[in-house]
Amino acid sequence: VIHRNINTIVFDMDGVLYIGSRLVPGTSGVLAHLRTRRLRIGFCSNNSSKSRRDYVEKLAAMGIESEEKEIVNSAFATAMYLKENNRIPCRVYVIGGKGLLAELSAAGAEIADSGGPGVDFVVVGFDKDFTYNKLMEGFRALQNGAEFIATNRDATLPLEDGIHPGSGSMVAALETAIGRSPLVIGKPSPYSLLRLVEQLDGEPATTMMVGDRLETDILAGKEAGMMTTLVLTGVSTREMAESADASMRPDCIIESVASLPDVLA
Ligand SMILES: [Mg+2]
Repeated sequence: VIHRNINTIVFDMDGVLYIGSRLVPGTSGVLAHLRTRRLRIGFCSNNSSKSRRDYVEKLAAMGIESEEKEIVNSAFATAMYLKENNRIPCRVYVIGGKGLLAELSAAGAEIADSGGPGVDFVVVGFDKDFTYNKLMEGFRALQNGAEFIATNRDATLPLEDGIHPGSGSMVAALETAIGRSPLVIGKPSPYSLLRLVEQLDGEPATTMMVGDRLETDILAGKEAGMMTTLVLTGVSTREMAESADASMRPDCIIESVASLPDVLA
């Protein structure tokens, strides 16, 4: 299948461009090729542990040039969600990493250090220092009437040394305690992808979403009205894609990002 009218490519990062800090072979060459062809390029990750600035640096360390406006991860998307819905100023109790705290603060949210009265939102993302105490403080804030937001709910996180529990497992802990579900900002919600395409001055109908997970990347891409391509270097397999529900069946399947030029005219 060749797609002639695509002018914007949006990449999931982990499992597509790299695994941990190991670049997928051919990635730099393909990105350089797309830039030469003047395609708009964007990067969209569900990982909430970093800020956009951290991503620019991570990509640069692997030899990939990018700008902050080409990046939307679930930490930034959560901050933008609060801003766009006129919820700033607000007080937020955060279970999450430094990148999430940085993006929420930059958007004007005040970070609460406990779950006492006056907390408007509890935001849960990936937190490698997750503790029972944080669970307790988040629970207290929700009991006091705070709104419950999850940056994403990926069950796992693939790193170089194997699969780790993802933010979804921490979201589930709090959800189980409080007995209600959070608003989820990251993929499979199309919100972060739509936000990114807007920042790139693109249009969903002429955008190709490239991802490695059917139930997040491909589902979100289709919900956003984009063409979708699954790469086989990450989580989902060809068999999973071919037997998937139509809502998450990709338009194209390629072995790796190195083959992307083959599906673009
Ligand atoms: Mg991925």
